[in-house]
Amino acid sequence: MTSTKITDTTHPPSSTVHRRIVALAGGVGGAKLAHGLAQILPPEDLTVIVNTGDDFEHLGLYICPDLDTVCYTLAGLANPETGWGRVNETWNTIANIEKLGGPNWFRLGDQDFGTHIERTRRLKEGQTLTQVTKDFCAAWGIKHTVLPMTDSPVRTMVDTDEGELAFQEYFVHRQCKPRVKGFRFDGVEVAGPAIGAREALESADAIVICPSNPWVSVDPILRVIQKINKPVIAVSPIIGGKTVKGPAAKMYEELGIEPSALAVAKHYRTLLSGFVLDTVDAHLSEEINTKTLVTDTLMNNLTDRARLATDVLNFIGSM
Ligand code: GDP
Repeated sequence: MTSTKITDTTHPPSSTVHRRIVALAGGVGGAKLAHGLAQILPPEDLTVIVNTGDDFEHLGLYICPDLDTVCYTLAGLANPETGWGRVNETWNTIANIEKLGGPNWFRLGDQDFGTHIERTRRLKEGQTLTQVTKDFCAAWGIKHTVLPMTDSPVRTMVDTDEGELAFQEYFVHRQCKPRVKGFRFDGVEVAGPAIGAREALESADAIVICPSNPWVSVDPILRVIQKINKPVIAVSPIIGGKTVKGPAAKMYEELGIEPSALAVAKHYRTLLSGFVLDTVDAHLSEEINTKTLVTDTLMNNLTDRARLATDVLNFIGSM
C-alpha cells in the first residue's frame, strides 16, 4: 500500500508520459479523461475502447450514446454543459416528432440526428460499427483510435424492483428511479472484442479504466475483453462518496454497498495495479489494497483533464 501525492505536474518527465495506453471509457466521465490523455499522448499511443452496452435502437435509428460522447468530446464538438450531445445544438427534429405524437423522452439534437441517421444507413449496408466509428473519427478530425468494445450486440439490462428494464428505459426514460437489484449484459457471452481491440491491448504498456460508472459502463467492456495481462490503473468516478453525475453511487447503495472510492477499488480489485482517488478521499488510501495516487480528480475544464491525465501517466511511469 503506497500513497503517492503528486503536487507538481507542470513539467512531466517525457519518459513517463510516452506510454502506450488503452483507456476503457463509458460516456461523460470516461470521455473527459480520454480527452485529457489525447491532449498528451500522440495518436499512435492511445486507443479508447468504449462501452456499447448502452446502445439501442430508437426511432428506427442505431444510437451509441457512449461512443458519440467520447467522439464528440475528442473532436471538441461536445456540449460543455451536459457533457453529452453536440455544442450549439438545435432541437427542431425532436420538437416536430413530439408534435406528431412520437416519443420525445430521449433527447436528440438536430446535428446528433445526422450522426445516427448516417450510422444506421452504413450499418444497414453491412459496415461494422468499428468501421463506421473509424470513418466518423476521420471526418471529425479525431487522430487517436476510438473503438467500440465489440461489433456484436450487447445490451445492458437493469434488474430493478419494477422488473428488468433495458438500460435507456431505466437511465433516461425512468431517470434511474427504480431501485437496482443487478445487471445483465445480454449477448456478452458471444461478443468478441472489436477488430483492433485485442491488438491494442496486447501492445499497450498499461490499461487505464477511466472514471466511468463501474457497473454499467466499465463492467460490460471488461466482460467482453475478458483477459487483461497488462497493468491496470483505475480512476475513481466517486468523489467524497458521491458521483459527479449519474447513478453510480445510487447503484452502490441499492446493492447494499456504501458508495466510496474504496468500494470502486474493491469492485476492480482482481485487476488493479494502481488506483487513483481524489484528495478529499485521501483517508481511504491506506485501506486500498494496491498502490494509490491521491490527486484532484474533478475535471471541470480542459486544463483539469490534461492535468489528471498527466498525473495518471506519471503514476504509471512510477510503477
Ligand atoms: P455515462 O455513460 O454518461 O454515465 O458516463 P460514464 O459512465 O463515463 O461516467 C459517469 C461517471 O463519471 C459518474 O460516476 C461520475 O461520477 C463520473 N465523473 C464524471 N465527471 C467526473 C470527473 O470530473 N471526475 C471524476 N473522478 N469522475 C467523474
